[in-house]
Amino acid sequence: MTKSRDAVHEILRQSGGFRSAQDVFAEMRADGSKIGLTTVYRALQSLSDAGRVDVLRTDEGESVYRACQSDTHHHHLVCRVCGRTVEVAGPDVERWAEVVGAEHGFIDVTHTVEVFGTCSSCAASRGENPSATPSGAAGKAAGKG
Ligand SMILES: [Zn+2]
Ligand SMILES: [Zn+2]
Ligand SMILES: [Zn+2]
Repeated sequence: MTKSRDAVHEILRQSGGFRSAQDVFAEMRADGSKIGLTTVYRALQSLSDAGRVDVLRTDEGESVYRACQSDTHHHHLVCRVCGRTVEVAGPDVERWAEVVGAEHGFIDVTHTVEVFGTCSSCAASRGENPSATPSGAAGKAAGKG
């Protein structure tokens, strides 16, 4: 399990941007891997649980994944409009989580904190142009491997 998880993580690191499970699957098969799509889904889920990948939901309802830029523990600030993700530290949150855990006698305390909002550029375009004109941002970026 961990082996396929690492392989999936490696693919995400190499590609840099957001990729769907199907993208990762196709890329690994092209590399000669015998991995199954279900395994890719499980690996992505487990990586996201471990906080090693960022997950976004596209307008079509598909989940896309990106390797986190930092391997250390961190939090995410996510724009609900365009999906822009900023990695942030939260020293106060770390302290608070330890304190409440200790107060209740918990050990091995972990936490996941994601902060959602509207990023400055989305807020700006919303303010200037109230009549929403959907710009055709079809997710087919011309990328070559
Ligand atoms: Zn991250
Ligand atoms: Zn935004
Ligand atoms: Zn934290």
